[in-house]
Amino acid sequence: MFVESKIKTKLLRRMGEAIEDFGMIEEGDRVMVCLSGGKDSYTLLDLLIDVRDRAPVQFDILAVNLDQKQPNFPAHVLPEYLHSRRVPFRIVESDTYSAVKRLVPEGKTYCSVCARLRRGILYQTAVEEKCTKIALGHHADDIINTFLLNIFFVGQLKAMPPVLRSDDGRNTIIRPLAYCRERDITEFAAQKEFPIIPCDLCGSQTNLKRARVKRLITDLEKEIPHIRASMLTAMGNVSPSHLLDPNHFDFKNLRARVGSVEDELDAALGHADPDGELTPALVSIG
Ligand code: SF4
Repeated sequence: MFVESKIKTKLLRRMGEAIEDFGMIEEGDRVMVCLSGGKDSYTLLDLLIDVRDRAPVQFDILAVNLDQKQPNFPAHVLPEYLHSRRVPFRIVESDTYSAVKRLVPEGKTYCSVCARLRRGILYQTAVEEKCTKIALGHHADDIINTFLLNIFFVGQLKAMPPVLRSDDGRNTIIRPLAYCRERDITEFAAQKEFPIIPCDLCGSQTNLKRARVKRLITDLEKEIPHIRASMLTAMGNVSPSHLLDPNHFDFKNLRARVGSVEDELDAALGHADPDGELTPALVSIG
């Protein structure tokens, strides 16, 4: 009998929790799984195939790769892999590589323009293919890094939504790996020997801000081992009355509140235990 690896069991559990918590997949959905050829999207597809085959909810999968016409892109790799997995798929060819080169000034990073072009094409493909959901391979560490990038460089308290409806209402994005750690995905991808295609064929420069934030969390993790779980928990445990956004809390019309100074302090500091330690109930991503 086939025994599933421990790491796969762990990833499947995390994915199941995310799908359940955010109502990502419903009966009759047709899920378009975006496959770039990186470890995250291979893992996403592999786990979703498992979920589809076992879940009581019936849904279909269509794998889609966008061939962006980057130099040296090994166009045969994904079709061969998808045939071997017997997954229905579509390869969409569009030369976004040339468009990005044309649009982005010399010395600037390509990735945000590239991602915007890619998103537009994938949204249109989902409509053509009558896909009700678009699954992306972003994981917990992407969400955490984006959260910090937005705070440090953009001045916004936001990360990546686990479920997102496009502005025109035609597409719904889901991120089933939202609770999965990158290190687990890396281990799983190595175990499965996915035929990885690097995402730097375009010769794009490293995003320095993202790399800096990644390093910061890795350093802090040495002192605060549960930092990632705590940050992810914080994103699902918001107190608008303890932030500074009057659009999310009506500070001007506060009625007199009954409560001691100690209550206020407890609320501000979290849930203090008898030894004075903070003891948050963390999302289990460790
Ligand atoms: S590394 Fe290249 S292909 Fe990948 S997102 Fe950035 S610009 Fe696009």
